[in-house]
Amino acid sequence: MRLDRCEAEKESFSMAEPEADLSKKYDAVIIGSGAAGGMAAHVLTTHGLQVLLLEAGKKLNIEKELRSMEWPYDNAHRGGLPPGSHSLNHNEYTIRRPPFGPGFEKSKNLYSYIGSTDYMKNIVVNERENPYTGTNYAWVRARCLGGKTNIWGRLALRLSDYDFKAKDRDGFGENWPISYSDIAPYYDKVDLYLGITGVKENLPYLPDSIFQRPTKLNCAEVTLQQGLKKMGRVLTQYRAGVTTDGLKHNKYRSRCYGRGACERKGGCDIHAAFDSPTGLIYPAMDTGNLTLRTNSTVREITVDPATGKASGVHFTDSQTMKDYNVKAKVVIVAASTLESARLLLLSKSRLYPNGLANSSGHLGHNFCEHVMGPGVAGQAKDLVGKPSTLDDGRPGGFYLARFRNLTEKHPNFIRGYGFEGGSGSSMFPAGTDQPGFGASFKEEIRKNQGSYIGMGAFGEVLARYENYVDLDPVVKDKWGIPALRFHYKFGENEHNMVKDMKETAQEMVEAAGFKIIYVNDRVLTEGWSIHELGTARMGSDPKTSVLNQFQQSHDVKNLFVVDGSAFVNASCQNPTWTIMALCWRSCDYLADQLAKNEL
Ligand SMILES: Cc1cc2nc3c(=O)[nH]c(=O)nc-3n(C[C@H](O)[C@H](O)[C@H](O)COP(=O)(O)OP(=O)(O)OC[C@H]3O[C@@H](n4cnc5c(N)ncnc54)[C@H](O)[C@@H]3O)c2cc1C
Ligand code: SF4
Repeated sequence: MRLDRCEAEKESFSMAEPEADLSKKYDAVIIGSGAAGGMAAHVLTTHGLQVLLLEAGKKLNIEKELRSMEWPYDNAHRGGLPPGSHSLNHNEYTIRRPPFGPGFEKSKNLYSYIGSTDYMKNIVVNERENPYTGTNYAWVRARCLGGKTNIWGRLALRLSDYDFKAKDRDGFGENWPISYSDIAPYYDKVDLYLGITGVKENLPYLPDSIFQRPTKLNCAEVTLQQGLKKMGRVLTQYRAGVTTDGLKHNKYRSRCYGRGACERKGGCDIHAAFDSPTGLIYPAMDTGNLTLRTNSTVREITVDPATGKASGVHFTDSQTMKDYNVKAKVVIVAASTLESARLLLLSKSRLYPNGLANSSGHLGHNFCEHVMGPGVAGQAKDLVGKPSTLDDGRPGGFYLARFRNLTEKHPNFIRGYGFEGGSGSSMFPAGTDQPGFGASFKEEIRKNQGSYIGMGAFGEVLARYENYVDLDPVVKDKWGIPALRFHYKFGENEHNMVKDMKETAQEMVEAAGFKIIYVNDRVLTEGWSIHELGTARMGSDPKTSVLNQFQQSHDVKNLFVVDGSAFVNASCQNPTWTIMALCWRSCDYLADQLAKNEL
């Protein structure tokens, strides 16, 4: 294991970036380097295209930043934030209408709820520099090479025709212009190129991947799994975007060693867990076809007034504040769902007065995600007092697949939800927040650790036209770019679903024989899931959609938007694996069209 870590360090990518040549016309310019931008870079450079990748954030010194194995006593603040920094909590999002309301003046650095540790503070944005306005929304952004993939939770799930053709099942919204059979080969490519762990279950509503070695469920998790089986519900190993067998074709990533202390601190230091830099961007640079420029905040997609086509981008160096223009045959927007909508709305011109690719008026609309909050904690009495087990060296615990609105119709809501959860011993055992001190307290914690099980729900938020984002007419970010304004709220379907989540969580854990410790029915603020989707949905009708099935703008044929913006609905399954599979498919099409001179 030690050897592999040294190997990973030896292979780590140089921090120095050669000066990008901005005088030449690239085949493609990609905006953003997360899951979507990284995948676009991989696919297009493999096709031999000359690609420029622009990333607003910095290149992290990833070997120093991702400290998966650091012990708390080796950290100046035991892993907490240094003085002068503050991470927003739930109440602060909902009550004070932050991040910019009164009460936070003392905190020079203000982070989203995710930025609550020393391990995250350099990855997530400083909210002060990146304001947004409108309705309450917990917007988590990571401005650095790799974006949010540096810290993602790694649950890597496929969507199915229960999602792509959801309108056929319940009449709501729109169907996607693709079926599972269109995207399945690309899911396979993503599995094989990046690695995924899990167990086959043969469920039509949660298709299997091509899995590497699975992680093991622990005792309490197996008990819950067996209890659920009697109810016809499926609990499976956490399907993690992690390579457990290793990837011979990628020298930047090691296989997962489940090293015992690697609880998620904001990234995997040996890159067993997928992140865009080591999984996609460094290999793309090795082709010799990719030019990377970090600290490059794109503020506008430029348009050739003679042809109406995208001509390139206008960006500002995030540090020096100098402005640049660069030209490309194709522009690929991959700045993440909300930032991509913002950029397209910013790219107004005489030809496109409502923003680029917005003749339908749907840009920024149909914004959807996952509703979170309800969950349950239980205790297995027969595990109390048992020796502790090594459980925190896993990329995740379990996933309980959707069971609502599959064969029967629920009377109060449409669509579904799943649960993420886990049990077992960990470095910081459950219960340490209970009152008590001294030897008896420690004994109590030790005795109970490993006996608790917990899970929380993620449910589909319906994609509704009236949930949207636009540009704030007054507020601007540090770079003088208009901020995004939210007009977004959960609706009746979500609230009814949340009620059911709470009831079923309790019912299932109880039925499996656990003692209920607490049931949570609090709905978390909009945005908490960090699964924002749908602001430039795809479709066959240019009047009601922004992109076609290849994430190509209906209006501007050399413009592609390859991130979660293109989703037609949110499903209840986590989106990143689908973002990458769709992007791969679209970039294959793009390369083909470019070769035929069709763009
Ligand atoms: C803590 C956490 C846990 C998560 N857990 C899961 C999970 O378990 N499963 C799952 O499927 N998903 C999960 N996600 C979500 C997942 O990370 C995202 O779906 C994924 O990263 C989206 O990829 P993206 O490329 O669209 O956006 P990002 O990864 O956010 O990348 C976008 C990039 O674009 C850059 N950018 C933005 N604006 C500009 C601009 N104007 N100019 C240039 N560059 C720009 C940003 O700096 C950023 O680097 C999680 C996210 C977080 C933060
Ligand atoms: S459990 Fe595996 S994927 Fe997670 S941090 Fe440890 S080595 Fe990385």
